[in-house]
Amino acid sequence: MLCCAGHQASLLLFALLSVSSLLLVDGSHQDQEFGEAVGSRILQTNPDAHEVHCSRERSRAAWEAIDEYLMPFVEKEKYELPSKCRLRPDNDMFREQEQHKIHFDINEWHCGFCKKAFRAEKFIDQHFENRHKNLVDNSEGRCMADLCGALHCDLMMQFKKPKSKCNAAAATRNRHLCESLADSCFPINQGLAASRLHEFFLRQFCDAHTCSKGTKPFPKGGRKQTNRLYLALSILTLILLPLFYLIVFLHQREMRKGTQDLKRFSKIGQKKKPS
Ligand SMILES: [Zn+2]
Repeated sequence: MLCCAGHQASLLLFALLSVSSLLLVDGSHQDQEFGEAVGSRILQTNPDAHEVHCSRERSRAAWEAIDEYLMPFVEKEKYELPSKCRLRPDNDMFREQEQHKIHFDINEWHCGFCKKAFRAEKFIDQHFENRHKNLVDNSEGRCMADLCGALHCDLMMQFKKPKSKCNAAAATRNRHLCESLADSCFPINQGLAASRLHEFFLRQFCDAHTCSKGTKPFPKGGRKQTNRLYLALSILTLILLPLFYLIVFLHQREMRKGTQDLKRFSKIGQKKKPS
């Protein structure tokens, strides 16, 4: 009995471990997909960027790239982005509106200004466009979508891998934009933190603007990746902890049964002896 209960428990443990490792593998697979999509961003020059209208969707993607792959490192260095830096959140004309988006549920969005409810993000975007346009300050240099070439927005928006070949001119243009951002946001004569972040920004965002293969954007990782790892570890702990107690419980129960059986056997043995 003891052997079988132990065997069942170890089988269960194995199954759960496989599920957890699948979770982890899935995460790394996503990273790989991210890497493969590099070309898309180099190729697709941003059509919205040069229009008078600034794309809200692409601005959001640009902000997500900054928030996920840059800000954790800027915060770690306790560095404050200079006012002329276009990566600052207050240089995003949609930031105030975006901050007033309340996402209650998958299909429930609320406007933080007038409390109106919407079924999808695109409807609340339209609502902002129609009702709260006065809150958008679209003065020069506040369109984050203009920085999309440098910030890998297409990758953030998970565009499919392009069929056409890498456009060397576009890659060079994006690289220049990227390097100018590094210079204006992290001037190397502004101290050690600025120099370190300047170097970091080039590796994290600018190196991948090339047609030669093997350079992925965001090689230093970001906020979500660490979150995903923590999530996987917490799930693993949550699964393994009760399982550990279950094994201990089963083991003790079998031990108790074993000693009872032994006692019974010895009693029978004692009874048989005199006869
Ligand atoms: Zn509203």
